[in-house]
Amino acid sequence: MKKETQIVSLGRDKKWTKGVINPPVFRASTMLFETMEEMRFATKNRANGEMFYGRRGGPTHFAFQAAIAELEGGVGTALYPSGSAAISGALLSFLKAGDHLLMVDNAYEPTRALCDNLLAGYGIETTYYDPLIGAGIKDLIQENTKVLFLESPGSITMEIQDVPTLSRIAHENDLIVMLDNTWASPINSRPFEMGVDISIQAATKYIVGHSDVMMGTATSNEKYWDQLREHSYLMGYCTSPDDVYLASRGLRTLGVRMAQHEKNALKVANWLATRPEVDHLRHPAFESCPGHEFFERDFSASNGLFSFVLKEGNLKSITALVENMAHFKMGFSWGGYESLILGVFGIDKLRTATTWDSSKPLIRLHIGLENVDDLIADLEAGFERFNAAL
Ligand SMILES: *Cc1c(COP(=O)(O)O)cnc(C)c1O
Repeated sequence: MKKETQIVSLGRDKKWTKGVINPPVFRASTMLFETMEEMRFATKNRANGEMFYGRRGGPTHFAFQAAIAELEGGVGTALYPSGSAAISGALLSFLKAGDHLLMVDNAYEPTRALCDNLLAGYGIETTYYDPLIGAGIKDLIQENTKVLFLESPGSITMEIQDVPTLSRIAHENDLIVMLDNTWASPINSRPFEMGVDISIQAATKYIVGHSDVMMGTATSNEKYWDQLREHSYLMGYCTSPDDVYLASRGLRTLGVRMAQHEKNALKVANWLATRPEVDHLRHPAFESCPGHEFFERDFSASNGLFSFVLKEGNLKSITALVENMAHFKMGFSWGGYESLILGVFGIDKLRTATTWDSSKPLIRLHIGLENVDDLIADLEAGFERFNAAL
């Protein structure tokens, strides 16, 4: 089955839908058993799609979990109340005091903060590594290293990692490889074929796709699924069936949305490349993006999220650019149908294994589903304000 067909078909088994198109919202905490035998059966099969207790989910969850697991290419998917919870849930399912974690230097900012604040306090040590380190990762592996965490492309600066090489070396040293795969979504890369053990999605972004639900998923291969599922369960992570319903509905249009986001974003990026104010693009599909060759090799498409670096600029000129946009709104997050713009400052303070020249300002865009010519006109007017304020 091709991805477009999977997006439409997966998770729609009659045992969950009861014969309608979408698995209904099945609200429940308590499952009632009529006999001891029924209760024993549910208990025995509680991890394999039998309704047991609300925290383990019901049919709405099971349908969505089955769809994501198969799309990502793993054997099982755990659900979390946010992408950040999926990251903490996956890490805490495997790390304990005395362990060492290798974390990519351009990780999503709250992931860094989790390592520096919470994990450090639990006695879990983190070493940050250059996203372009490749085979050099070997030199950073210690006796107590347990997890290699990747995010590719990384947040904001968008460097792409050599995932197969990193995974191979990690496995030679018995590490667990986790990937924040949010940018690719479950359709534009094949994490498990590249050696990843656990693939994480902030479903909040493209899976939900309409900026109205927070959710995270962590999908595991066979080897780590039991531990991921049971430890996440012990930590009490769960999601509401209403939210899962919306995520499932978002999933059905993921393919067409992503294709349009990509098309619009490439047109905007190509236009930006002609602008005299722009130093270079941080768009994985462009050669100026570090690790571009791994994008070409490992991804089937790009999407609406990328950044660009300006030759010069300051707080005043960037403020003039990003304020008063007609269509681009200012806000964190991305992956919804709408366009967003962010002037990002202080990146140098979020990098410790690499350096970043903050004298050249960076702007991150999420290109939505508006008419792309309207978006370009909006940016053009923004550059006029920018130049007047320089
Ligand atoms: C947004 C995001 C997350 C966190 O997801 P939330 O649902 O907002 O907690 C994690 N990783 C990446 C790459 C993200 O962009």
